[in-house]
Amino acid sequence: METKRVVVVGGAYSGVAVITQLLKHPLSGNFHITLIEPSDSFFLSHGAPRAVVDANFLKHCFIPYTNLFLKHENNKIIKQKVVKVLKNLVVLDNGNKVEFDYLIICTGSSYASPFKYNINKSTDEFIEEIKLINSKIQESKEILIIGGGIVGCEVAGEIATDYPNIKVKIITSGKKLLSNTNQSSNLVSKLTTQLHKLNVEIVYNKKIQFLENLKEYSFKTTVKSGSEEFTGDCVFKTIGFGGFNSNLILSLTEEIEGLKEIDLLDEFKRIKVLKTGQLEISKNFPEYKNIFSCGDVSNLDFQTKAYLAGMEGELVAKNVVLLEELKESQLLKYKPTAHNFIAISLGRNLGVTELPYGFTVGSCLTSRVKSRSLFIDKYWNLLNVDKD
Ligand SMILES: Cc1cc2nc3c(=O)[nH]c(=O)nc-3n(C[C@H](O)[C@H](O)[C@H](O)COP(=O)(O)OP(=O)(O)OC[C@H]3O[C@@H](n4cnc5c(N)ncnc54)[C@H](O)[C@@H]3O)c2cc1C
Repeated sequence: METKRVVVVGGAYSGVAVITQLLKHPLSGNFHITLIEPSDSFFLSHGAPRAVVDANFLKHCFIPYTNLFLKHENNKIIKQKVVKVLKNLVVLDNGNKVEFDYLIICTGSSYASPFKYNINKSTDEFIEEIKLINSKIQESKEILIIGGGIVGCEVAGEIATDYPNIKVKIITSGKKLLSNTNQSSNLVSKLTTQLHKLNVEIVYNKKIQFLENLKEYSFKTTVKSGSEEFTGDCVFKTIGFGGFNSNLILSLTEEIEGLKEIDLLDEFKRIKVLKTGQLEISKNFPEYKNIFSCGDVSNLDFQTKAYLAGMEGELVAKNVVLLEELKESQLLKYKPTAHNFIAISLGRNLGVTELPYGFTVGSCLTSRVKSRSLFIDKYWNLLNVDKD
């Protein structure tokens, strides 16, 4: 097999899965892999609700890339942001170009700070930001969480567990928690009971005014809903994803005559891909069949979850190998999940899980599987780094 240049853009759940899967292949030495990622480390966003509350846990959420390519000297990491994708090359923020034989776009999604790494900040700035929030939480008497989705509930659970004297209030516009999801009513009911057990107050049916003007997080802030006012020493905005990091692909419209944004992105601005992970446009423009996308930024699965991003990344890596082995007809096809499996941790001891077919379990199992450890070791092992 000839040497092939594989470029992976984005080094989190999906990007790391692509790389680790490719490295397992017996011919991995023939793939010269380049990871392009602006951060120094893989940020475990699923650990962010605890990292924000517990300064000791914070360091476990940043896994350095140092050992990712330890025994593979032909591979490298470029600490940059990709701004353009063109046929067989990507353009970086600093103007440099990187050529590829295969490209996998794993640029994910955004979420309000400090719950996801923002590529416009340095890793050190991000860590300092979380440390500041952490110290403000410790001084707080009352904390408001605007948004009753999974992240809002997890943040409330972490604060209430570590600081039982702080009054934690979730304010939601819905008439129940997780109102924007189709998780079972059984799960929602268990979740609500557990939050009450932690003395978290839940205020329903309240639309906060001028929410768009409210910062991602703020200190000593008053918000209004109608004539009612709510004040928090810390206020977090956990109202869902802030968008998908898919803009870099739009440069293909400059290259392919007549191609429009709608050919590349779906209604949520996720990259349109085939079930193999290849760009959907490769059906009409086969010269682009070497470009793949997976994880949150692609529409391979409707659900945006870390474990699915990992599974998608593994499938795409296998398809890169199959394509290279000229086995195009055998490319694997991703089957989107039909169920709503989710494990929600509320601090270290509590939590709820929805299993397939709407079956739910409570704290005993959820804390053993997720809440205590948050799968941190799994990811440190994946990147071949000793956590302690
Ligand atoms: C607070 C929180 C808690 C969560 N908890 C869970 C959970 O418990 N379980 C679960 O399954 N899911 C959870 N999720 C969802 C999960 O985090 C996402 O599904 C997952 O992060 C998707 O992984 P990804 O690799 O697609 O993208 P991301 O994790 O978004 O990573 C994208 C990477 O690409 C990089 N990047 C972005 N743009 C560029 C560019 N232009 N050039 C180069 N690099 C770029 C970024 O720096 C980042 O490293 C949670 C999300 C949040 C916000």
